[in-house]
Amino acid sequence: MLRNRSREHPNDETLLAYLDAELSNLRMRAIRTHLQICWKCRAALAELESQAVAISRSLLRNRRMILIDLFRLGRILAMED
Ligand SMILES: [Zn+2]
Repeated sequence: MLRNRSREHPNDETLLAYLDAELSNLRMRAIRTHLQICWKCRAALAELESQAVAISRSLLRNRRMILIDLFRLGRILAMED
């Protein structure tokens, strides 16, 4: 049973959850085992990882821009006093 499950390819959603360590210990271990025997999923994981890094970078950039806007707004409001 367990052997069969480790032969199933996890889908992208599961791989992303694995990247974020959001799965149960059992699932994390099953996917780690699967990755050791499956180069296809290792490649998919590497691709997802680089996309996830790009997305979190752009989110970070947006957050910084929002903070800058808030900072400017704060100064404008302070000047009006
Ligand atoms: Zn696989």
